[in-house]
Amino acid sequence: MKDLLLELIVETKVCKICKLEKPLDRFYQQGRKSLDNRCKACANEGKTWRRRERKKYEHLDTGFCHCCGRKSDSLHFDHDHNTKKYRGFLCHFCNTGIGKLGDNIEGVNRALRYLERHEEKNG
Ligand SMILES: [Zn+2]
Ligand SMILES: [Zn+2]
Repeated sequence: MKDLLLELIVETKVCKICKLEKPLDRFYQQGRKSLDNRCKACANEGKTWRRRERKKYEHLDTGFCHCCGRKSDSLHFDHDHNTKKYRGFLCHFCNTGIGKLGDNIEGVNRALRYLERHEEKNG
């Protein structure tokens, strides 16, 4: 009976990677108020995977962003989130920019079409 009560009090959250429901302290804090969508176990696994992949493609890190060509000391290791395949090394701007546009061709194309429409109006 006591255990059941305890279970009711503990707040839980479902991890988006392993889909398991876990108590909130199994998730890393992200910023002041939000929690990571992945549980600690999955987040750590992701980090290890990223480090291993990065090592594999390290020789392709030229110090210049593969998208805009800007020089950067800390290029981001970019991969396709669906296929988990390596894409390239990106500077902070391109990485967050592409990410915010949806991290896919469709999203970036939408932004492109928007800009083109604007250009047509002016030109
Ligand atoms: Zn998980
Ligand atoms: Zn860039």
